[in-house]
Amino acid sequence: MDNKAISEIKELANSGAASGNSTEEIFARCYNAVKKTLGITPFDEQLAAALALSKGRMVQMHTGEGKTLCAVFAACAHAINGGQVHIMTFNDYLADRDYNWMKPVYDEMGVTLGVITEKTPREERALIYQKQVVYTTAKTAGFDYLRDFVELDPKKLCFPKPDFAIFDEADSILIDEARIPLVIAGDVAVKDDGSVGEVYKKLEGFSGFEIDEETKNVYLTDEGADEAESLFGVRMIYSADNAGLLAKICACLKAREVLKEDKDYIVKDGKIVLVDEFTGRTAPGRVFPGELQAAAEAKHGLKITSRGRIIGSIALQYFARLYPKLAGMTGTAETAREEFEKFYGILTEIIPTRLPLKRIDRPLELYYDKDEKRKAVVSAIKEAYDTERPVLVGTESIEESERFAEELKKLGIPCSVLNAKNDAEEAAVIANAGKRKAVTISTNMAGRGVDIKPGGEDGADKSFVEEAGGLLVIIVSMRESERMTLQLRGRSGRQGDIGESRFFVSLDEDIMIKNEFKKLCGKHYPSEKICGMLSDKTLIKEAQRVQRISEGDTFDDRVKLMKYTLIGEKHREITFSRRTSLLLGTHNSGMWKKSPLYEKAVEKFGEEPLNTLENKVLAALLNEFHSDYLDYTAYLREGIHLTQIAGRNPAEEYNIACEEYYESAAQSIPERMEEKLADVLECEHIEDYNIETPTKIYTYLLNDMAEDFKAKPILLNVFNEEEFEEEKKAPKNSDNADNAENDEKKGFFKKLFGKK
Ligand code: ADP
Repeated sequence: MDNKAISEIKELANSGAASGNSTEEIFARCYNAVKKTLGITPFDEQLAAALALSKGRMVQMHTGEGKTLCAVFAACAHAINGGQVHIMTFNDYLADRDYNWMKPVYDEMGVTLGVITEKTPREERALIYQKQVVYTTAKTAGFDYLRDFVELDPKKLCFPKPDFAIFDEADSILIDEARIPLVIAGDVAVKDDGSVGEVYKKLEGFSGFEIDEETKNVYLTDEGADEAESLFGVRMIYSADNAGLLAKICACLKAREVLKEDKDYIVKDGKIVLVDEFTGRTAPGRVFPGELQAAAEAKHGLKITSRGRIIGSIALQYFARLYPKLAGMTGTAETAREEFEKFYGILTEIIPTRLPLKRIDRPLELYYDKDEKRKAVVSAIKEAYDTERPVLVGTESIEESERFAEELKKLGIPCSVLNAKNDAEEAAVIANAGKRKAVTISTNMAGRGVDIKPGGEDGADKSFVEEAGGLLVIIVSMRESERMTLQLRGRSGRQGDIGESRFFVSLDEDIMIKNEFKKLCGKHYPSEKICGMLSDKTLIKEAQRVQRISEGDTFDDRVKLMKYTLIGEKHREITFSRRTSLLLGTHNSGMWKKSPLYEKAVEKFGEEPLNTLENKVLAALLNEFHSDYLDYTAYLREGIHLTQIAGRNPAEEYNIACEEYYESAAQSIPERMEEKLADVLECEHIEDYNIETPTKIYTYLLNDMAEDFKAKPILLNVFNEEEFEEEKKAPKNSDNADNAENDEKKGFFKKLFGKK
């Protein structure tokens, strides 16, 4: 802790002489504003944490120590010095809560404040984002950022230039959920140029393909690739130039061979209507991805209408990295110190607890199997309940929670089960988890950020609960990272309260099996079922080792995955920022000027209107360009595991292929723009020209990008890149490659996509 700065702040606050804009002076004014408006005096630890946040650090501060207040100091200091701050809370409920709670302080400081949740109407957001400090969630902000990518009206752009973000519960968002991509998709009307229909017809009788039974994707065989090349008159079906054609071929074959009428879709009123695979009901409005919709339409000789396209996507991790200044706070940062530094370039600072920690953390308790473990947990709950002591049980899944609830019901023990359906209700239940006799069962995440007071929110039975030993936290099962266990332990023993945590693990948990626990233990592993708690010290030691191994593995996976995702992020960022600068007029397209049609167009419509339109047309074209890019790279990832057949480094090959595609697709833009100018010229008035934009926009979260790579067992090998180092050949130089090299390349891509 920076005690000198802390004393200086307090002295300045007491003297009332702080009128400047140094961090200390602003903190001093904020200190007084908190006292005046909230009636509390900030603790030294809070000032220390606030100073660290101001420096862009990751702050570890124990649950209940008052993190919400710390962010206010850092936000005010940045805002008063001309910056903008986004405080990312764990959910909408906390964004609203913190906004309302802290608003008086910001008002007193003369700092403008806003809050944006999922419920905030879109048309109001641009104005709110202009406030100096905004409380929101990373997901809401991320989607707003993406949505700007489909706007064509510069007045409707809402997301400001990222400046400073403070993440609350930072480990959850920046590590656990970091890879989750936010996706924005649209329903794009397409002009039926007949090309998919033609491809479909030409493929009649074509049999050079294989179907992957697992993914239901269609691949060309080596012979099939040759045949397709002669059928469509192209030299290399696997070259980036022919990516569009290849996608159409595969889609047509898939529509013909894999999609089943009346099971996957029905044909109604001349349209393909999808059938939801889970509910079995029709899902009007939904379309097959990419070219598949058109291919299905071609199969039935229907008019090709529209297709669903992913317009943009960004993983939370990259969204966070858009902010030039980042800070975070959480109760559990220490074990993720390295990750924060490596991925985000931020250092971690541990703030000591204000009062000594009185919670007793019991060591791991090991059981033979889940049944034995459940019995032990239920009896621990019963034991606490009999003395009316509150218990909070942390399970890994909603099913597990419900199972406990059932068992407890049989014993006549009432309990609350949290299942993450409603944040506000959940917060109310969690806040009362410390009440006398309360039994609360929740999953990992439930109620993060909510304070649990012994004796309940009103503290009515505080002394009774304290005498009973305080809140007992029971953790069931080992998590991928120790951080999650610590987070749960930390729900008890806030602000020097008395408390206890217990940790129950069994030998048959997934994490044990995945990390070959049996092998690790050798002869110590019990040869037959043992009832009750296991006492073998080696078993316990090895179980603790599993935790460390698992933690290291998931970290490595994240690092490796990054090698595949960085390139897409780079390309997205270039495309996005070009598009925005076109709309804002800070950059002009200037492509039409080079066209022979330009003068005629200027004569007809005037130079200025034409230039404005050109920028918009190009902005819309960049959407198409980016969607094509996303289709292509998704397709590449499907096949990238096959690089190991070619003995290459898959990540490297993937990056080269993405770069090549991006470059060559970018080169086609001027030509496509010229076509558009010809279309414009056909209009009588410039206003008649219709820029095609999605008719419907929808946003969603993809569960985990990593699944893309992990789905097939073979893909896991991709991560063993070291194996490829020796065999690795020099990367190919595509453009001026001679024929021999091209042929080799062709062979490589053939292997990449053609064969399974
Ligand atoms: P955290 O987010 O660190 O878990 P909160 O910000 O939710 O903690 O605060 C926990 C509790 O501590 C709240 O009830 C809050 O009112 C109280 N609190 C915070 N700072 C102070 C302070 N300086 N003096 C007294 N109470 C405080």
